[in-house]
Amino acid sequence: MLRTHTCGELNKKNIGKEATLAGWVHKRRDHGELIFIDVRDAYGITQLVFDPKENRSMHEKAHELKSEYVIQVKGVVRERPAGTVNKKLPTGEIEVLAGALDILNPSLTPPFELDDALTVSDEARLKYRYIDLRRPNMQKNIRLRHKVNSFMRSFLEKNNFVEVETPILTRSTPEGARDYLVPSRLNPGKFYALPQSPQLFKQILMVSGLDRYFQIVRCFRDEDLRKDRQPEFTQLDLEMSFVTEDDIFELSEGLISGVFKAVSGIDIPTPFTRLKYAEAMERFGTDKPDGRFGMELTDLSGILKNTKFNIFKKTLEKGGTIRAINAKGYSKLSRSALDALIAKSKDYGAGGLAYLKCEKGKLSSNIDKFFEAGELDSIKEKAKAEEGDLILIVADKKAIALGVLGSLRLEIAKESNLIDENKVNLFWITDFPLFKRNDEENRWDSEHHPFTACKEEDAKLLDGKDLGRVRARSYDLVINGQEIASGSIRIHRRDLQEKIFKIIGLDKEEANRRFGFLMDAFQYGAPPHAGIAFGLDRFTTIFTKSVSIRDVIAFPKTQKAVCPMTGAPSDVDDKQLKELHIKKSK
Ligand code: ASP
Repeated sequence: MLRTHTCGELNKKNIGKEATLAGWVHKRRDHGELIFIDVRDAYGITQLVFDPKENRSMHEKAHELKSEYVIQVKGVVRERPAGTVNKKLPTGEIEVLAGALDILNPSLTPPFELDDALTVSDEARLKYRYIDLRRPNMQKNIRLRHKVNSFMRSFLEKNNFVEVETPILTRSTPEGARDYLVPSRLNPGKFYALPQSPQLFKQILMVSGLDRYFQIVRCFRDEDLRKDRQPEFTQLDLEMSFVTEDDIFELSEGLISGVFKAVSGIDIPTPFTRLKYAEAMERFGTDKPDGRFGMELTDLSGILKNTKFNIFKKTLEKGGTIRAINAKGYSKLSRSALDALIAKSKDYGAGGLAYLKCEKGKLSSNIDKFFEAGELDSIKEKAKAEEGDLILIVADKKAIALGVLGSLRLEIAKESNLIDENKVNLFWITDFPLFKRNDEENRWDSEHHPFTACKEEDAKLLDGKDLGRVRARSYDLVINGQEIASGSIRIHRRDLQEKIFKIIGLDKEEANRRFGFLMDAFQYGAPPHAGIAFGLDRFTTIFTKSVSIRDVIAFPKTQKAVCPMTGAPSDVDDKQLKELHIKKSK
């Protein structure tokens, strides 16, 4: 080793002893003759003193030191003079009087300081990621992520899981995104797809009798990127044989509450609350509900069934609905703020947003004249409106009304600081529909993926027209309003799998071409099985409280899927393209 101690290790017990440290020049302070250098490594910071009276040539050399130079220093540990002790540092009671100094590597002036408080552009942070990762928060995040992974690995090992690596060069695995394709040099004109998830392999491992599989695995989805998306992201992926939903829930709850305890000392009570999809939509307007605050949606359709207000009346006649939320304390909202809310609700897809202010004990607004006194009283009661509240109402198709109010609910909660960031709220969402309508292509798509089983009692609906009513045996884990995991009980028989492919528009030939290997495997004694995958990037941000998942990924990409550090994606030589039998279009 180039050091006897780390920079976080020396303390009063070492006073009088010799030590050699190695690390980066963190800060330099010149106090008259004396030069103080804080030397930093992964473990901490130690103060070095260069005193010309003790060693003139060393002191001369110390003048050369600049930020981020890599140095090795040998010296004697001594007590800091009274009044200069730094209680915040574990090494704050001592300093090292430098006797020998070696500059192992000078450094250019870093593009930004290693200070968490400084705002640095994302572009600069990613271009100089090696510097960015030296910042204290990033060091903390990367280490915390390791802790999460390592807890998960040991928990799963204790529960008899086997870690198996599955191929990266494979064929398309449908998770609803575009594939990343890799041309095959040895098979001209053919392509591998990078896996959107190891879904098919983990199911085949169950057919192979592995019983319990897991993998911390990279998945690739070529999507337009948002703040919590990356082209490649990491899942904790698992699959189990001979299980039901309850087994998956129990295992996952042990795992997730265990991570919370190990990483942040928080006790999460189990079992987690279970919420059916339909109820989540009714109460929160989303299948990713954030239950850390109230403001739940209410249905005013019953109260207003005889309304004379034409817009509402027409909506109900057309089979629509009238839903509301109570924005607590919002009655004093300025006209422009109210207009902004209305504009937002239009962005979310609503035709309009009606409101009623609760002031002086009654509801009023520009539309109050259209309602009977009794109706207003009932609305007030149903929405639990109190003095100073503002009831926001959307009358529209059910999906739109729920979705818009769900989004406004979240927006208002954020704006008015209703969300207690120290709370942890977990929901299992169950009973999703198996299919969703693809109106553009006039067909049905799988809501989760096509390998998901349906409720036994709904299987008969598969032969009918009312496919929207078929409920899936799938489940999502939602933490603080974010989908953290998703999984399902799988289909394990060929006939049923074929039927589902047919429903989603894959004819027999196409289904066989793409998934014949899986259906073949089902014919050789496939056990009933189920699984789940946890999005590790997003999950880790719950602990780091990062705004973006980029802060928990060592080398992420930009919104445009570019890595500013390596320059990927990049041009390639014509020779390479030729070998791959690819011609660039002009
Ligand atoms: N493969 C699924 C996904 O990536 C998870 C699962 O069903 O286990 O979302």
